[in-house]
Amino acid sequence: MAIVVVGSVAYDGIKSPSGSVDRCLGGAATYFALAASYFTQVRIVAVVGDDFSQEDENVLRSRKIDTRGIEHTKGKSFFWRGEYGENLNEAKTLETQLNVFQTFNPQVPSEYLDSEFLFLANIDPVLQGNVRAQMDGRVKLVGGDTMNYWITDPNHRKNLFQTLKGVDVLLINDTEAKLLATEPSVPRAAQKILQMGPRALVIKHGEYGATVFFKEGEFGGGRHPFRAPALPLEEVRDPTGAGDSFAGGFMGYIASQNRLDREVFKRAMFYGGVMGSFAVERFGTERLQALTRQEIDIRYQVFRELTHIG
Ligand code: AMP
Repeated sequence: MAIVVVGSVAYDGIKSPSGSVDRCLGGAATYFALAASYFTQVRIVAVVGDDFSQEDENVLRSRKIDTRGIEHTKGKSFFWRGEYGENLNEAKTLETQLNVFQTFNPQVPSEYLDSEFLFLANIDPVLQGNVRAQMDGRVKLVGGDTMNYWITDPNHRKNLFQTLKGVDVLLINDTEAKLLATEPSVPRAAQKILQMGPRALVIKHGEYGATVFFKEGEFGGGRHPFRAPALPLEEVRDPTGAGDSFAGGFMGYIASQNRLDREVFKRAMFYGGVMGSFAVERFGTERLQALTRQEIDIRYQVFRELTHIG
């Protein structure tokens, strides 16, 4: 089973209490693709500039990620610079250079069109909708992400509502969920969002884990939510990409199974947590580039034992 992901492939500058890097490979689609590549075939749709190095493209290729949908164009790649203070759940954006992203018009290569899974990483909801429409034929499950900027600006918000109608599983954090639903209670916000289109909603609570809410009757079950903890890590070096890596583990695991039911979703929540926890142990994508399936499975067992009552 293959997953198409559309989103940013970027360079990041990151500062956290554990150190800093001036420029490293980043981007939401990059983190997603690396995390999902341990479970299934991943195909990227993105745009980069002429500063994008062969070495960085090889990072993706060496994980057997299909990069034919990465358009190379004149100019500079998307660049993001952020900083984390003691509260590692919150990134402070210091600089966003859209560069070649400004005129991004994503085209899904014809070789990708037989993919059954699609992930719309955090980009303009109009572009997300556009890619969703190009993939209408075979796609079985569409995951999506978004951020405050698209939720709060009145024009983008309208477009986001339109796009949400075509998203099966939305993955956002609790602050974003409250803003999207204009509702301070998370469970009530979840019920409101489930009326907007998504059939399932994953709300991430940073270092405290994540909860999946379902629309009654979808994926073979009732309305009751399921919560997975996050692994208590002693040192988080760089939280960048945690959400996208969670989404990669979550969607990647689902795509690797041949059914779409509650049990698969529950295990996917744990695999999402596993991949998120690896991502934050080192700066940038370093940890996600060279994992083994055995390391992933060992950590999955640790997660299970964290909540298992004999
Ligand atoms: P996360 O920490 O999971 O929210 O994702 C961080 C990644 O998203 C970084 O690698 C950035 O390059 C990328 N990013 C930051 N801002 C944006 C944006 N406005 N649009 C697309 N990607 C972004």
